[in-house]
Amino acid sequence: MTIFQKILDGEIPADIVHEDAQCIAFRDVRPQAPVHLLVIPRKPISGLSEVARDDSALMGHLMVVATEVARAQGLDESGYRLIVNQGSDGGQSVFHLHLHILGGRALGWPPG
Ligand code: AMP
Repeated sequence: MTIFQKILDGEIPADIVHEDAQCIAFRDVRPQAPVHLLVIPRKPISGLSEVARDDSALMGHLMVVATEVARAQGLDESGYRLIVNQGSDGGQSVFHLHLHILGGRALGWPPG
């Protein structure tokens, strides 16, 4: 079981900023920017490589929630970045799909 499943199950605490029937959003424990949040589906999808056509509505929902959470954090004007790390080269370390929301400072591009 992943650490994010334990958060979903209430077995370990998280600083949750959004909850609905399909997903939750919470603060990353090792923030890489002044604002660093994660949006995760309740459905246990391991990552982008496991997403199926049937997940289209869910994927759209995660994206829309990310924009709402970013807005609620006051990031609309300054900007922010959404990231999904997939697999080893993508730098994925937790194998439960998650969208990173990073903001509150200027972010470099391209990523290292
Ligand atoms: P990734 O490398 O894309 O798989 O991102 C996983 C993210 O989960 C990292 O940014 C971690 O800091 C974060 N993380 C790991 N454990 C926790 C936790 N218990 N609560 C919140 N964030 C976590």
